[in-house]
Amino acid sequence: MGKRYAAVVLSAGKGTRMNSDVPKQYLMLEGMPVLCYSLQAFQQSMAGEIVLVAGEEDLEYCRREIVGKYKFTKVKAVIPGGKERYHSVCLGLEELMKRQEPPDYVMIHDGARPFVDQAVIARCAQAAEQCQACVAGMPVKDTIKIADEHQFAVETPRRSLVWQIQTPQAFAFPLIYQAYRRLLKLEAAGQPVSVTDDAMVVETIFKKQVRLVEGSYKNIKITTPEDLEIARLFLTGK
Ligand code: C5P
Repeated sequence: MGKRYAAVVLSAGKGTRMNSDVPKQYLMLEGMPVLCYSLQAFQQSMAGEIVLVAGEEDLEYCRREIVGKYKFTKVKAVIPGGKERYHSVCLGLEELMKRQEPPDYVMIHDGARPFVDQAVIARCAQAAEQCQACVAGMPVKDTIKIADEHQFAVETPRRSLVWQIQTPQAFAFPLIYQAYRRLLKLEAAGQPVSVTDDAMVVETIFKKQVRLVEGSYKNIKITTPEDLEIARLFLTGK
């Protein structure tokens, strides 16, 4: 039988680096909010269900102006997120766990990455089936240096081995669900938690190796005003 996929699309961030009152994922991009582009990609993908995680104050807007208006029929739940990204992911996974039959695989995607395409999604799905845990990314173009607290370079990793990580990040559902549950237990027990992507969670909790899958240099995250300019250029060619 075919494997069942779900997607968790994250949209609960405040986006302070954009210097805008409207969070970056709701800014208009050639006639459509940024978030719609990522939802469209998963609507057209093999995912059978999408859970959209948004800020408490944006739930109604998302349901009416995004999911309803653009007819994203695969979005079965629009739920409030948490303080940090990893809290939002966890809430999305808990929502999927409520299903009579939770999915076999889940793809976690930043709603602020509008240019994810079917080829990247398909590569992630295939790698998740082979390796249980994978993330999209691309080899870096610039040399990367690790700095100390005083802004002095202390290390220069070999560039050919350094990747910048994107989303989707795709996992066997039980693996990522258990990893996040344990992470939140550690946090509740007072352990400091610093997590910026989902792969880190299975790497640190289960020491599980995560496969890097070819993403795309176009799969940018809209973070600062310059990114919005680049996104417009991608869409219009000018
Ligand atoms: O803050 P950052 O750019 O890393 O956020 C990546 C994605 O995670 C964004 O789509 C953002 O909306 C989402 N996020 C979230 N909940 C948070 C923080 C970020 O859903 N508490």
